[in-house]
Amino acid sequence: MPKRTKSNNYVYLFGNKKADGDGSMKPLLGGKGANLAEMTRIGLPVPPGFTITTELCTYYYQNKRTYPKALEAQVKAGVTFLENILGKRFGDLQTPLLVSVRSGARDSMPGMMDTILNLGLNDQTVQALTRLANNERFAWDCYRRFVQMYGDVVMGVQKRPDEDHEPFEVVIHSLKQERYHSDIEDTKLTVGDLKELVNRFKALIKERTGKEFPQDPWKQLWGAIGAVFGSWMNDRAIVYRRKYNIPSEWGTAVNVQAMVYGNTGDKSGSGVAFTRDPATGEKVFYGEFLINAQGEDVVAGIRTPMPVARLKELLPHAHEELEDIRKILERHFKDVQDFEFTIEEGEVFMLQTRNGKRTGLAAVRFAVEMEKEKLIDWKTAIRRVPADQLDQVLAPIFDRQAIKAAKCIARGLPAGPGAATGKMYLNAERAVEAAHKGEKVLLVRNETSPEDLRGMIAAEGILTAKGGVSSHAALVARQMGKVCVCGAAALEIDYRNKTVRADGRVYNEGDFISINGTAGEVYPGNIKTAASEIVQVLIEKSLGPKESETYQNFKKLMDWCAKVARLQVRTNADTPEQTANALAFGATGIGLCRTEHMFFEGNRIDAMRGMILAEKTEDRKKALARLLPYQREDFIGIFKALKGLPATIRFLDPPLHEFLPHDHAAQNLLAQKLGVSVDKVSQRVRELHEFNPMLGFRGCRLGLVYPEISEMQARAVFEAAAEVQKQGIKVKPEIMIPLVGFKRELDLQVEVVHRVAQEVMQEKGVKLNYLVGTMIEVPRGALTADEIAQTAEFFSFGTNDLTQTCLGMSRDDSGSFLQPYQELEIVKKNPFASIDQTGVGQLMKITVEKGRSTRPDIKLGICGEHGGDPDSVKFCHKLGLTYVSCSPFRVPVARLAAAQAALEEEAAKAAKPAKKK
Ligand code: PEP
Ligand code: MG
Repeated sequence: MPKRTKSNNYVYLFGNKKADGDGSMKPLLGGKGANLAEMTRIGLPVPPGFTITTELCTYYYQNKRTYPKALEAQVKAGVTFLENILGKRFGDLQTPLLVSVRSGARDSMPGMMDTILNLGLNDQTVQALTRLANNERFAWDCYRRFVQMYGDVVMGVQKRPDEDHEPFEVVIHSLKQERYHSDIEDTKLTVGDLKELVNRFKALIKERTGKEFPQDPWKQLWGAIGAVFGSWMNDRAIVYRRKYNIPSEWGTAVNVQAMVYGNTGDKSGSGVAFTRDPATGEKVFYGEFLINAQGEDVVAGIRTPMPVARLKELLPHAHEELEDIRKILERHFKDVQDFEFTIEEGEVFMLQTRNGKRTGLAAVRFAVEMEKEKLIDWKTAIRRVPADQLDQVLAPIFDRQAIKAAKCIARGLPAGPGAATGKMYLNAERAVEAAHKGEKVLLVRNETSPEDLRGMIAAEGILTAKGGVSSHAALVARQMGKVCVCGAAALEIDYRNKTVRADGRVYNEGDFISINGTAGEVYPGNIKTAASEIVQVLIEKSLGPKESETYQNFKKLMDWCAKVARLQVRTNADTPEQTANALAFGATGIGLCRTEHMFFEGNRIDAMRGMILAEKTEDRKKALARLLPYQREDFIGIFKALKGLPATIRFLDPPLHEFLPHDHAAQNLLAQKLGVSVDKVSQRVRELHEFNPMLGFRGCRLGLVYPEISEMQARAVFEAAAEVQKQGIKVKPEIMIPLVGFKRELDLQVEVVHRVAQEVMQEKGVKLNYLVGTMIEVPRGALTADEIAQTAEFFSFGTNDLTQTCLGMSRDDSGSFLQPYQELEIVKKNPFASIDQTGVGQLMKITVEKGRSTRPDIKLGICGEHGGDPDSVKFCHKLGLTYVSCSPFRVPVARLAAAQAALEEEAAKAAKPAKKK
């Protein structure tokens, strides 16, 4: 058997139950080639063929698109191998061998590269095929397809920039018009029509390229091989590789395989199938096929395929054989397979297999059921579920049939997963009013602010035209478990006329809109949705755990995760309800309670605004006195919901622009409530205006300039703690000071906290245990973490702000340039969604090292939005953090990612000593 190392062997054969390669050789043979070899080895019916390696592709590009000398003989030997197995000869005038030539990269790149079928046909061999198949129409249909594909792919006869249609399609169209005066189906073309098409195609090739269509099969074969290697560098493939991070050095392999025909008549067909249902995960044979068709007809969507179950009636033997193959594939590959087959005169042939793509729902079910069937072990099951897909199982989804018929009118960022539909309202009040009347509503805004909160609560989902994934709308929506699409820039929102223009149409307030927050898509109309069973069991409690198989599977997966994860998962929650939701999903405490969010509700925002607008300390103290009981009650609720688990409570950090009323009507209303003149309010708003509010008077700066604010907050926390502790419930507050860059900032705030703690303990006669720490969210804080750790008992990375300040990119304004930045490959992913590991990550590393150098057992966490992003969670595991904290509905995702990180580490450790041997 050839070795996997670089060698002069460029051609790997497969056929007759033997193969030079195997399934483990994807880097060398590509995914398709490796699995064709593997299927051949295990005795599945694979038409014989050979694979030209990816190493040759590399050679080809490194040597000005030429081949090594040895290749010619090896390809010849490959063809002879096929001839001997099949008893046919390449180019023979009696029994011609015909082949397909297909690309096959290491990872599949669907539709990106080129394929040529029926190669070996020419003016003579087409006669032989007619005789062999006893079917002239079939033979000429193959020849017509071949000349067209070859002309397009190899000879480059394609649409020019000034043309609207593919030139070969234009020829077909005009022949149909000339002869039938209508666009009849291709299957209705007669032998005479097909012969005429072949002639016209040849003439077109000659006219466009100045060259004849090659009659020599060997010339055809070398042309096709060159075209497949050449397609590795076509624009489509380059763009695809960029998007999916596939290195161009990988190269593609070329698979040359004997043709089998699904288009010889009613006992033949082609299909694509999955060993289990990739949408629901159900263990049923799933897929579709077309009778009397070649493979590309199934994917091209010209004819509507039938479900594979129908094969049972139409071609029962083939169906039985496919059922057997389905079982063999799963037993062998130990994963759900997506495969292509052709049935030629009742006989089944396998043309491809690969691990099937799947929805989050299916991924969980596959993993759990395959473990039960002993196909895989529980650790493999954990690794099988893509963590970023797990939130799909918690989110409502669109009815699958309904969404197929819908047209996407705008795209934005997928900010809160799930599907939501409702009548759109462009203002929170009207949304609330409509919801009270029993309407399902969607809140649609340019961006949201705390004023919109009630509308957000009332809405099924939130859609904004501006803002990024850490914008107000996005993080509040996620925390509430709401479906959200933000930054859908194509929406033109006209508040005055209460309309939204999108995709050339105008929608009025009250019209139904549907959004997919998993994909970031916007649709017109009322698209049916279905709730997640897991949420029905755990949150709504409207379904018993035993009644839902989906829940049982989910629970099993989460229980396995708990066995291996080292990172704990906490939650970002500001209310008892959010806390309870997160605990139901397995959170081990609160990692971030944003206290300013506690003032969003009801009239509290007025007291909060009164506090912000206050000019004199007295006025501020009065406003704070109104806020204290609210805060205390909230903390009592949260401590009770936590039942002894820790709560990191972050002191006020209200970016002023988010909290001030900007338009006249809102200022007027606030003035009335506060009993001051509207002029005074608007003057104060003007005074407080900041050019860069995100870098302005926020975070600990507020508590430092107005210590009475921190005092009130500390009092609220400790009074609540004392009360709950008295009721016999353990309380573990961890007070967190935001936006610290200087040790002195923290020292001054900590002093206030300790002083108030002492006061409350004395007043209430209790002893309270608590920690005081800080967020690390500005670069100076990271760089001086050793100093800050002298005071801080814990650090929590505020990666929203750390990203904003490290990259110098406003988290609120980056929507306008991040998309082009991704397209230009300046950033691979949105850095506000997934940690920029090389930049921000380095600041985190420095923080961990410096922090530990001062305080070796310092507790380390992360509470930026990245805490729910699987790649970021894995990065945090590697940094050795104690916990990640994310919104409640992301908790399962983070738990899965944490378990996978631990397993990846385990696998890497196990692999190391083996290498040394
Ligand atoms: C952060 O900056 O990452 C953070 C958690 O704080 P906020 O989003 O409230 O600024
Ligand atoms: Mg922050």
